[in-house]
Amino acid sequence: MPNQPLTSLFRPEILAMSAYHVADASNFIKLDAMENPYGWPEAIQQAWLEHLKDCPMNRYPDPEAKALADALRQSNQIPEQAGILLGNGSDEIIQILQMALSSDATVLAPEPGFVMYKQIALSLGLRYQGVPLLADSFELDMPAMLEAISSLQPALIFLAYPNNPTGNLFDAKTIKQILAAAPGLVVVDEAYAPFADASFMDQLPHHPNLLVMRTVSKLGLAGLRLGFLAGDKSILEQLNKIRLPYNINCLTQETARFALEHQQFLLEQTQTICQQRTEVLAALQKIHDIKAYPSSANFILFKTLEKSANAVFDSLKQQGILIKNLSSQGGLMGNCLRVTIGKPEENQAFLAALQYALNNTP
Ligand SMILES: *Cc1c(COP(=O)(O)O)cnc(C)c1O
Repeated sequence: MPNQPLTSLFRPEILAMSAYHVADASNFIKLDAMENPYGWPEAIQQAWLEHLKDCPMNRYPDPEAKALADALRQSNQIPEQAGILLGNGSDEIIQILQMALSSDATVLAPEPGFVMYKQIALSLGLRYQGVPLLADSFELDMPAMLEAISSLQPALIFLAYPNNPTGNLFDAKTIKQILAAAPGLVVVDEAYAPFADASFMDQLPHHPNLLVMRTVSKLGLAGLRLGFLAGDKSILEQLNKIRLPYNINCLTQETARFALEHQQFLLEQTQTICQQRTEVLAALQKIHDIKAYPSSANFILFKTLEKSANAVFDSLKQQGILIKNLSSQGGLMGNCLRVTIGKPEENQAFLAALQYALNNTP
């Protein structure tokens, strides 16, 4: 019998972490996770099931997912000279990137930002530095960013474009300044590309240290777990050595290819979501006691000005509506809540419940 708890075998940074928490959403109107609320049209679903019959489930999938990679290159206008690396969600790509770094490397990202950058850095024992965004505009604080870059010499910088949870696109000029100042790689994370009208994809040929990451999750295929990274082929070749051989399973490969061939229905869904985003933002901006921030993604960040966001969040939950409470992050996120754009009737239910919550919390 070991005389120490077996968990003491694990690195102290792992023991100190908490697992990524996902709220139980059963029986809620689910507006917490940036999912596309729409299912697939009946006819397309039938054709898809028919298509899946040809998946040889007894065989390993294509380790390189070549056909899918080609389809992604096409539909995302990845420049000819750039390479592509596929991941089990872009989360896995964030992990692959950081696993490749030397153990004394620093990872840098503006905050508030996507939590997995930091979570994965900590799990790998890397140094992580967050740099606060400017209050209110949520733009990059360039003096602070440039100072952190020069003093910490980060091997890797993550910039979500648009940013999660704030929803804004950072000024493109400032991102180019960071690309010029960075001694290492800069990942522009375009998870919300389907809802934004700006991208760094066409900049790849001009910046050897730029990598552009995307996912099909927010487009409407979150269940598949598929993300990808585009950039310099010699960099991706090294990262590819860490990737587990069959990380994109056969059902994901075939389903994603099928969905991209039929992507018109997904594009129509994202258009509807963008229209709804305009309506929900206008409605939120009319509510006294709320400051709502414009968004280039499929969610809206808002702040309660007088009432406690925790109380509003709890009241929404009691009314059957689940959104994301960011206030525990503190700092710029004090009293901030984030709502994902849903179907029109879900958005209406949310707005009514929010009004009720504001009227009935002390
Ligand atoms: C949702 C999200 C991701 C993760 O996407 P997956 O492909 O589902 O792992 C990555 N980056 C940002 C900024 C996100 O909001």
